Amino acid sequence: MGTGGRSGPRPGKGVAGAASAPCQYRCIECNREARELYRDYSHGVLKITICKSCQKPVDKYIECDPVIILINAILCKAQAYRHILFNTKINIHGKLCMFCLLCEAYLRWWQLQDSNQNTAPDDLIRYAKEWDFYRMFAIASLEQTAFFIGIFTFLWVERPMTAKKKPNFFLLLKALLLSSYGKLLLIPAVIWEHDYTPLCLKLIKVFVLTSNFQAIRVDSFVLSVA
Ligand SMILES: [Zn+2]
Repeated sequence: MGTGGRSGPRPGKGVAGAASAPCQYRCIECNREARELYRDYSHGVLKITICKSCQKPVDKYIECDPVIILINAILCKAQAYRHILFNTKINIHGKLCMFCLLCEAYLRWWQLQDSNQNTAPDDLIRYAKEWDFYRMFAIASLEQTAFFIGIFTFLWVERPMTAKKKPNFFLLLKALLLSSYGKLLLIPAVIWEHDYTPLCLKLIKVFVLTSNFQAIRVDSFVLSVA
């Protein structure tokens, strides 16, 4: 296989191939390190690299459309997670985290307003509501931080004693933030707040936790040997 046409590998970010380059990629099948995802021959002929360990393509997703990758990530496929985390330089985890926290803070704030029947003057109500939103944002941020610290602590305590190198907690943090993309489902809840039931919100939480677990599972190899 492998041409420069439509069926060839997408020359996206982080996809390069120099034989002398350090092992900056990983095989999405067996998690082994790889120097390149594909080899660029002359005349635009590209060939996907085959993993020396499992004899499968190092990263078959470099040929795929982003929609296909997203669907595979939604299905919690470990290969899709490895492709996104190790073989791309996607850098939206900070913005994604902030956006999700704002949505969560708004939902909490809205639920708080729903339960409050305030008889104070309008200006005071507006002022109090604004601070309520900031308070909800702070609580949501603290909960998120506590959740991540709990995971880091657990993985640090449970790490294999045979591990020679330090765990890569930055990569794990990035994985956790990216795998929390399910919180984007809160956007419809923000828009159509009256049509969202508590059951929907719980299902979103379950989906986010499942994605977080898969991200941790994919990163477990990195935590032990990276
Ligand atoms: Zn492999």
